[in-house]
Amino acid sequence: MTRRLRYAPSPTGKLHIGGARTALLNYLIAKNTGGKFIIRIEDTDISRNINDGELNQIKNLAWLGIKADEDPIKGGKFGPYRQTERLNIYNKYVDELLEKGIAYKCWCTPEELNKEREKEIAKGNPSPKYSGRCYGRKEGVKGVKPSIRIKVPTEGEVKWDDGVRGIISFPKKDIGDWVIRKSNGIPTYNFAVVIDDHLMEITDVLRGEEHISNTPKQILLYEALGWDIPKFFHLSIIQGEDRKKLSKRDEKTLQFIHLYKERGYLPEAIFNFLSLLGWSPEGEKEIFSKEELIKIFDENRLSKAPSFFDIKKLLWTNNQYIKELNEKDLQKFLNPFVKNFRYLSQEQKNLIFKTFQPQLKEGIEIIELTELFVEEYSVENELKEFVEENINTIKDFLKRIKKIKKWEVNQIKSAMLKTGSSLNVKGRNLMMPIRIATTGKKSGPDIASVLRVFGKEKTILRLEKFINED
Ligand code: GLU
Repeated sequence: MTRRLRYAPSPTGKLHIGGARTALLNYLIAKNTGGKFIIRIEDTDISRNINDGELNQIKNLAWLGIKADEDPIKGGKFGPYRQTERLNIYNKYVDELLEKGIAYKCWCTPEELNKEREKEIAKGNPSPKYSGRCYGRKEGVKGVKPSIRIKVPTEGEVKWDDGVRGIISFPKKDIGDWVIRKSNGIPTYNFAVVIDDHLMEITDVLRGEEHISNTPKQILLYEALGWDIPKFFHLSIIQGEDRKKLSKRDEKTLQFIHLYKERGYLPEAIFNFLSLLGWSPEGEKEIFSKEELIKIFDENRLSKAPSFFDIKKLLWTNNQYIKELNEKDLQKFLNPFVKNFRYLSQEQKNLIFKTFQPQLKEGIEIIELTELFVEEYSVENELKEFVEENINTIKDFLKRIKKIKKWEVNQIKSAMLKTGSSLNVKGRNLMMPIRIATTGKKSGPDIASVLRVFGKEKTILRLEKFINED
């Protein structure tokens, strides 16, 4: 049997970390088993949809390298894949359930339902269910469009063997007769999702744990319609820095995938990192290409425990990928960040890129690094004094670098170390005078790398200025 999996975003928001992780794990199971991966837009909550929700989801998934096997927009084997374009399909099943007497019309107004709820709560029932009073009712209410509810049995339990959590069961009496189509004619999520998963021949439903409480409703609907029930997997939550579920309120963690793209993350790094949120392969290795992940993915290793969004690990992962970029890809990756530095030639930019490539954790860091090479150069008086106090360091270093033939970071570093050992200075007293004399700043990136980009001539000129003023 070909396995078919789906990612079913609601375009009520942009692609966030949790959604991307869900999509990615579905994708990995599909690809690992030679199955199919589809994307379905669940846009029935019309008032909450945002303008670019759908496009943002699809574009950013594509950026991550996650593409559907059946075109989510133009259609495909079982399309259209946008729920608002499938209303006729849902209506057909609503009619079938009405005919069978499994579903019924409900004319209760929101006000009446509220009153009923409040009464029950006052009686000490903390989570009241709909009383079912419209069940069997023939006469409608003039001017009121009915919603459609499904009759849920009250005896027994709904049970499933969850791919992540094992057996989960819910008493049926806790479910209540729920609405499958609202009075405005739009099906509810729990209804449309079952119809679509069945018609699209979805074999496995892998989604966030917030959907566990929806699953009993969905299973009962599969049973009512006499359909096979897919295998369910409910992924554990992702926790942020505060060890709470990642949420928009967590200001330390960027929530949306496009923001990572903007800060200069490589899609391969994000793909790698997300795959390890709630899943782990055997062994200690942490860097995996997409192809490797597809090959080794094992759904039995999905974790029940919450996963931790470790931003330090993400930065480390991104750095691992940046370090591996060849010259051409590095240029393509970093050029957009420095497009405003018009006075630097591409050649100069390339030298800056290459010099700082090993240390970059986010592409955006290149902006500040590049600024060093275009800013007006001046040294404050107080800092000048510091350099003058350490003028011997400058003199000795100058003498050594003049002899360097190949102006490389290692050569510059070794000249600096030799100055240090011959004058018996180290740390602050060794680096700082050189840094200040050449950049006018007390801190910054590795000074040998900076001098490498300045070039021998400019470095010597800047240092000599101090000697001549001496
Ligand atoms: N549209 C639902 C959501 O965005 C999908 C839930 C599911 O995968 O069944 O949460």
